[in-house]
Order: sequence, then structure tokens, then C-alpha cells
Amino acid sequence: IVKVEENRIIPENLPKLRKRKFTAFVPVMRGCDNFCSFCNVPYVRGRERSRLAHDILKEVEELVPQGYKEVTLLGQNVNSYGKDLEERIDFAHLLGLVNKIEGIRRIRFTTSHPKDLSDKLIKMMRDLDKVCEHLHLPVQSGSNKVLSGMNRKYTREEYINLVDKLRQAIPEITLTTDIIVGFPGEEEGDFQDTLDLVERVRFDGAFTFCYSPLQGTKASEYRERVPDKVGGGRLRRLIEVQQKITLERNKSLVGKKFEILVEGVSKKSPYELEGRTRGNKIVVFKGKEDLIGRFILARVLKAGCWALKGEIVSC
Ligand code: SF4
Repeated sequence: IVKVEENRIIPENLPKLRKRKFTAFVPVMRGCDNFCSFCNVPYVRGRERSRLAHDILKEVEELVPQGYKEVTLLGQNVNSYGKDLEERIDFAHLLGLVNKIEGIRRIRFTTSHPKDLSDKLIKMMRDLDKVCEHLHLPVQSGSNKVLSGMNRKYTREEYINLVDKLRQAIPEITLTTDIIVGFPGEEEGDFQDTLDLVERVRFDGAFTFCYSPLQGTKASEYRERVPDKVGGGRLRRLIEVQQKITLERNKSLVGKKFEILVEGVSKKSPYELEGRTRGNKIVVFKGKEDLIGRFILARVLKAGCWALKGEIVSC
């Protein structure tokens, strides 16, 4: 048994360690109230606590003179931002306020729980010019039986419906997800449901995991364990399907032009630079180091699974 943290105050004005020079992570809330059966965050980090909008906006404003151009608003479940605050504010409203800050050109956020992704937030994502066309929306499984065992509080049909709404509102949106295979009680038919969902949604990318029990969580008490060999086999099959889809989706971008925020020298090739599109695709291209930290326009020449190759069109 782990003691749940009771202090509801998030300390402000602590020194921040920022690894990147042009894109910054700004926490908007801590903790989580969802108690997914496989996860220990609610026990380790405590219940949801939102930072005051005033403090978040001040932090983002202070990033501008330091040269930051992109912010990622962070929380375990940003979509429930504000529910614990006295002031009447939700995450969609907060996005609108951050969007008004001059000097910040891109806004991202993570992570979103599907059950809390409101129509209002989708509309704000569509309408706010700085909010990037990328959403990480963990589905975890395509089987309703497994989703129920995970305590995710949505069905595969509701998830697919949400994706349809997102694509209708923002056709060019990049969608990524998290998927766990080998969850206790997952049978071959349940895994097929996951593969089917992956084929239907056609995610741009997925973080895939084989279930492993975390001490103190509800799922660690479940008896119907999936043998490691079976779970490992399912993981390999899932990765194969997703990689094929990722490559196909990336290939569909060849020939198109994208705005890139140049982040630095390519991690794979010291003679090239790399940056990200608004859709969070990594593009590697030849260019001088004085472009780092600037926005350029690049054309995609070639697609791989993990990155795109491009050339500068204008800078
Ligand atoms: S998986 Fe995410 S939403 Fe679920 S309990 Fe953990 S942090 Fe919360």
C-alpha cells in the first residue's frame, strides 16, 4: 500500500532545468485521478492538482525573451485541467490564453485522456493558430473487455468516434498513441480487436508495450496472466503492422512543404540539421548551423519510419 500524497499545493518559483533552447515544457498540472488499473501514477504523484492559470501564463511569457518559440503544456491528463481550481477555467480556455502570448509561435500539449477530450477542445485545436496539428491520444487496447479491465472508461467505438471527429475538424492532424499488449485476460480475439483498431485509425506512430505488473496497482492482482512468450509475440506483430502504417503515412508527405522549427544538428548525421513540423514529424536536411532555432520551409524528399528527409525551400 502506498500513501497518496495529500499536499494539494504545487510549489512555484522553483528553478527550472530546461534541456532544449527553443522548445520548453511547461507543467500545467500534476497527478491523476483516473486510476487505470495498470498504472501507479495516482499513488506515486497523488491526485490531480492544477497550477493557477496566472502562474502558467507568467512562466510562458518569461520564456519569450529567452528565445523560446514553442511550448508543450504538460500533465498526466491535461484535459481535466482546472477541475480542482476555484477559478472557472478548463484546458480549452487555458489554450486560448496561451495562444495570445506574443512571441510563442507553437503550442503543443500532452497527455490527453480520451474520455475527457471535449468537443470544445477539438474546436479550440482547430481554431487557435498556434496549436499544432498533433495529438497523442493513448488508446491502450482495441478490445472493450481489456479496456474495461484497464479501467479506461471508454469503449473502442467511442475512441474511433473521437478520432473521426478530430479528423473531420483537423484533416491534417498527426495522431499518435500508446498500446499495451498482453494485459491480464487478453485473448487472441482481444488482440485481433487491437490490430483491427490500429488498421482502422491508422496512427502516425505508437508507443507499444508488453504488459508488466506494477506493484500496488489493481492489475497486478489479476490472475489471468498472459505468458511472456505470447505477449512478446503479440508485441512483435503489432509493431510490424504499425511500422507499415507509419511508413505509408510518412510516404504520403513526400513532395509536400512544411514549416520546420530547426532544433539542432541531426542526432544520426553530424553534417545535417533536424527539426519538427507542426505535426511533430522529424525532418532531417542539409543546412548551416546558424539556422538552429529558426523557422524554415522545407520540402519532403524521402520518408522513413522515424524521420523524413527534406530540403530547404526558404529560410
Ligand atoms: S495511465 Fe494516465 S490516465 Fe491512467 S492513471 Fe496513469 S497517468 Fe492517469
